Amino acid sequence: MDPSALREDFPLLARNPGLVYLDSAATSQKPRAVLEALEAYYQTLNANVHRGAYALSVAATEAYEGARRSLARFLNASPQEIVFVRNTTEAMNLVAYAWGLRNLKENDEVLVTEMEHHAGLVPWHLVAERTGARIRAIPITEEGRLDLSALDHLLTERTKVVSLVHMSNVLGTVNPVAEVARKAKEAGALVVVDGAQSAPHLPVDVKALGADFFALSGHKMLGPTGAGVLYGRYEVLEAMGPFLGGGEMIQEVHLDRSTYAKPPQRFEAGTPPIAEAIALGRAAEYLMALGMERVWAHDRALVDYALDRLSEIPEVRTFGPRGPDRGGVVAFTLGRLHAHDVATALDQEGVAVRAGHHCAQPLHRRLGVAATARASFYLYNTREEVDRFVEALKKVRDYFKVWL
Ligand code: PMP
Repeated sequence: MDPSALREDFPLLARNPGLVYLDSAATSQKPRAVLEALEAYYQTLNANVHRGAYALSVAATEAYEGARRSLARFLNASPQEIVFVRNTTEAMNLVAYAWGLRNLKENDEVLVTEMEHHAGLVPWHLVAERTGARIRAIPITEEGRLDLSALDHLLTERTKVVSLVHMSNVLGTVNPVAEVARKAKEAGALVVVDGAQSAPHLPVDVKALGADFFALSGHKMLGPTGAGVLYGRYEVLEAMGPFLGGGEMIQEVHLDRSTYAKPPQRFEAGTPPIAEAIALGRAAEYLMALGMERVWAHDRALVDYALDRLSEIPEVRTFGPRGPDRGGVVAFTLGRLHAHDVATALDQEGVAVRAGHHCAQPLHRRLGVAATARASFYLYNTREEVDRFVEALKKVRDYFKVWL
């Protein structure tokens, strides 16, 4: 895989050769094929799906359902197990409300981890408030891995859900989901995986993971904003009531009651993000053509190189483990400087990184820092960009030296 050549596919990057974009964990850039899919939908296919008896609507429906098949292949699922949602956040809320609210009772437990994104915590908080269920968390080790030795006493007959992030958006840690899922299943718990960071970067096989649910955001995997996926194991989806009600998700409606369509339509109330879902299908095809193994190998090589180079700056502290279970995300601090100042100063050098708590406040509390700056890599980033980032950071260090 040649990232320099790939960059030609990305109009925003091609147009801004001076920009070192290291914020793909927040949202990725989009290849031309995805932008063209959006445009082509409105130019040639625009009609509502699943409604019309006319040819244009049938063609729009076929394109939308084709995207569902692409995402199914991407995750090794069947198309009926792919629910189009807006993003990971909506997917997690769908599970919490449609499954959690109906099935959790007082003193039941939802087991999360200390490294969750708020999207993997707050929906459970909302449901816990209403059901009396409790939240418990798998702690992390000093290196930033899950402390699996705690799992045996945390998983009990009270545990009804294990909800965990596949790859941390702060530590870069790739969690051993299959192993956790196997133990969770033995305890009779449902397994919910936040795949927002993993799906764009590494091969995902939801069956091999043992996930009952797996959530992703299209905009982090080369797709447009506004379309994401909730994978749900079919038997679980079939046994589950709807989240949102309205058109498209029903079988029969009377004035005072209704029955619901089969999955996945049961969970897609109203007009879906048609153009966005089709373009997300195109993004999944683009990634599959490149090969997710190669995308992952590229990310792995870049993050190892970045961590080596960052160790040249003694004032830099990085977080997260080193090794094959570490993806292309590097959260760091520079002395006692605030992360926002670091990010603003890097921006002056043309390097775009994110700063803050990255929607992971409990994790930052555990790490003992209020905020971090975060560089994140993707298939279009190069080693030269890592060099530019590190050289820029050295300049920032020199500039602020008196305060470090
Ligand atoms: N989970 C993780 C691990 C994430 O990194 C993000 C995005 N920062 C989300 C969930 C939420 O994604 P979205 O904002 O697209 O819903």
